[in-house]
Amino acid sequence: MRLFSCAACGQPVHFDNRSCVKCGHRLVFAPQTMSMEAIEPAGEPNWSLVAHPERQVRFCANEVNDICNWSVPAESNSNFCPACSHNRLVPDASTEEGVEQWRRLSQAQRHLFYSMLRLRLPHPNRDVDPQGGLVFDFLVDEVAPDGSIIPAMTGHDEGLIAIRAAESDDATREQIKSNMNEPYRTMLGHFRHEVGHFIWNKLVRDADRLEACRAVFGDEREDYGEALKRNYEQGPRPGWQDTFISSYASVHPWEDFAECFAHYLHIVDTLETAHAFGIAIEPEGHRELETDVAFEPYSARSAQQLVDAWIPLTVALNSMQRSMGEADLYPFVLVPAVVEKLEFMHKLLHDKIPAQRQTDWQQGFQQQAHQDQALLTT
Ligand SMILES: [Zn+2]
Ligand SMILES: [Zn+2]
Ligand SMILES: [Zn+2]
Repeated sequence: MRLFSCAACGQPVHFDNRSCVKCGHRLVFAPQTMSMEAIEPAGEPNWSLVAHPERQVRFCANEVNDICNWSVPAESNSNFCPACSHNRLVPDASTEEGVEQWRRLSQAQRHLFYSMLRLRLPHPNRDVDPQGGLVFDFLVDEVAPDGSIIPAMTGHDEGLIAIRAAESDDATREQIKSNMNEPYRTMLGHFRHEVGHFIWNKLVRDADRLEACRAVFGDEREDYGEALKRNYEQGPRPGWQDTFISSYASVHPWEDFAECFAHYLHIVDTLETAHAFGIAIEPEGHRELETDVAFEPYSARSAQQLVDAWIPLTVALNSMQRSMGEADLYPFVLVPAVVEKLEFMHKLLHDKIPAQRQTDWQQGFQQQAHQDQALLTT
């Protein structure tokens, strides 16, 4: 993530800020330019950018209840920003709990979309791609007649991403993390993982890059239900650490792909933060642990370049976490087999693996993206 500055006073500004703590200007994120903008009222409902007074924006409709801090161009037909416009079922905004959950879900969702927009990944909506477009349902738990909770399921189905809203509550999520013996569990991690399945649909299956993907991740035609059952009954496969990023990745090639997609985003985005802050690691007497992230991680030349910067950084960050009595920031080991998978992911996301097929949704999505771009230049 970049570090932004307030256009009115130069104060450092973060991605999730709503106003400048120094000069008091309202702030919005402008996805068309991927920038945080200080804004001033320009007659309801429009606001003008301090940096470009001739350009006007509106708040995303989810600014109500302080859920979203993104903007839409004043000329846009949409009431919602590119992230919120993919939502279908949302938490109940008439309750305090629903609003709180939605705020935390939205924060993770917008962070996911930041990476997707930086990487120019496809995100056709259901207008453009009625069967497989990207849509989110934030699901509430049900209460059984005996009063027990039936948890909603997080998962995916042809571009429909379901997220269990209750997991945005820290206590609930930490409980699951502990029960499942997981080293890492966050809302942002869920969004990145589930969208990884959508990316497989769009960039691997629909574009028929299946053979290239199978050569790296294995054959996804293996029975998924059987694989889940085996994992449930027998636990993770022995020795998974030699070839997989997590035990869950070893369940099935689809899960391996989704996990690697999530990790690719973890690494790129956290490295961008290190880059933005000018963080360099230079431990005395340990040249092998030197790194300075002197490149733009979102435009890295290879996954190897990312990993070479990432490993020393995580050694330092994990050590700092331990100094505070906290768990490791990145409790994973990137073995060579995993780096190879990340290399495939890097090439796939940067469109360096030839597609065998032009897909139906692509033209519609390009038009969608083109319209956004046209608004930007006016
Ligand atoms: Zn300011
Ligand atoms: Zn929004
Ligand atoms: Zn999955």
